[in-house]
Amino acid sequence: MELNELTAHELIERIKREEITSQDIVDSIRNRIKKLDSKIKAYVRLSEPSLSVLSPISYQLSVPLMGIPISIKDNICTKGYNTECCSKILRGFKPPYNATVIERLIKAGARVLEIKNNMDEFAFGSSTENSCFGPTRNPWDLERVVGGSSGGSAAAVAADEAIAALGSDTGGSIRQPASFCGVVGLKPTYGRVSRYGLIAFASSLDQIGPITKDVRDCALILKEIAGYDPLDSTSANISVPDYVQSLVNDIKGIRIGVPDEYFVEGIDNRVKDIVLEAIDKLKQLGAEVHKINLPHTNYAVPVYYIIATAEASSNLARFDGVQYGLRTENREQRIENRLIGMYKDTRNEGFGQEAKRRIILGTFALSYGYYDAYYLRAQKVRTLIKQDFDQAFNAVDCIVTPTSPTAAFKIGERIKDPLKMYLSDIFTISANLAGIPAISIPCGFTEEGLPVGLQIMAKHFNEEMLFRVAYTYEQNTDWHLRKPNV
Ligand code: GLN
Repeated sequence: MELNELTAHELIERIKREEITSQDIVDSIRNRIKKLDSKIKAYVRLSEPSLSVLSPISYQLSVPLMGIPISIKDNICTKGYNTECCSKILRGFKPPYNATVIERLIKAGARVLEIKNNMDEFAFGSSTENSCFGPTRNPWDLERVVGGSSGGSAAAVAADEAIAALGSDTGGSIRQPASFCGVVGLKPTYGRVSRYGLIAFASSLDQIGPITKDVRDCALILKEIAGYDPLDSTSANISVPDYVQSLVNDIKGIRIGVPDEYFVEGIDNRVKDIVLEAIDKLKQLGAEVHKINLPHTNYAVPVYYIIATAEASSNLARFDGVQYGLRTENREQRIENRLIGMYKDTRNEGFGQEAKRRIILGTFALSYGYYDAYYLRAQKVRTLIKQDFDQAFNAVDCIVTPTSPTAAFKIGERIKDPLKMYLSDIFTISANLAGIPAISIPCGFTEEGLPVGLQIMAKHFNEEMLFRVAYTYEQNTDWHLRKPNV
């Protein structure tokens, strides 16, 4: 096997034994990207002048990540390197500081890729088709989407163009692309990982998390990026367990909840069967399986699309041609209103269609006379959704569902129909609304050879439970070892 095909923990062992160096891994990743990425398009701005793919960050052999290269979604700030959220409006933006997760990765000895992973513009989407650079293609079938919005990160890991990656998840953007690409993706508990330097989409929902080839790598990386950060007032001052310790191959007596509401009409039958088989497997491995109810599940999509768009519309107000990225070239603005004209033209030229749709939806939901009817009411229903989970976790240790109702769909299939696209998120959104952690792991393939993801959710700050269940499943199956033939 080539080095780029290995996991971080396998590579770390080899580095420790002094069989390889960090630079060997970097070279093998670089070769893979050069050879393959014109097909997959997991990375953006690859053609830029230097083509020196990685920042030469020094590392010592005593640090946990030992010089492992990690690739980064285009909405996480890297000091001095383009961070554009795959939006025209941020063209050329080079942040003056690193996000906290970047600082922590560097401190842990990781090498951070200079070039970034493709994503839906501002993380608005479920297919990576909303990127101003065009879609990423699924390594399992180039005609299909990779999921979104962290689609470039998931595809890079699946196609061995990255060892591991960081994505962000507001309503499923780590887990759904991980499931479409057959890799592992974790959304931590809200507050577990600092959001400082993550360009905000919806501040009460966003979390950064790892996308990896297996569960061990996921635990390894979360351990390094998690923890309190004085620069993010919503980060939690709760100690970070050693997640690698929770990787035990044993789920005897673990109570697993299976919610009726996640196996209803609209779910693809093949996906349903594969997930039910996975649940059976967990039972064989010693877990107790209980039927549960999350009665407000039906409201998750409408509630999310009010809260997320409202927060997005206010977060995106800062992009006006003055401080960041693009400013319109058009100098013809009506004389009496030059400044407003400049704002308008910049925003009109800079934002793509989905960003505009969300700004309009969100502004409407927050506007005078409608605030109570939409935003306030959505927040109240959000509390009910959270209470569903609180109640469920009185009786079970974790909840298992499909990550997405279907496997990867065709490029172009849903992009013209926003409602259909929004419904792709139906199983992932609730975890963000409730703030709980959730992981997606590969659990099978459809007859077309497309990966299917199993989602596991647990109580706030109980990522250890996710790792334990996910690891046990992974150790007793081999779905995660399959590679796409690209
Ligand atoms: N697909 C969802 C949306 O379009 C979630 C995106 C995300 O998690 N960033 O909003």
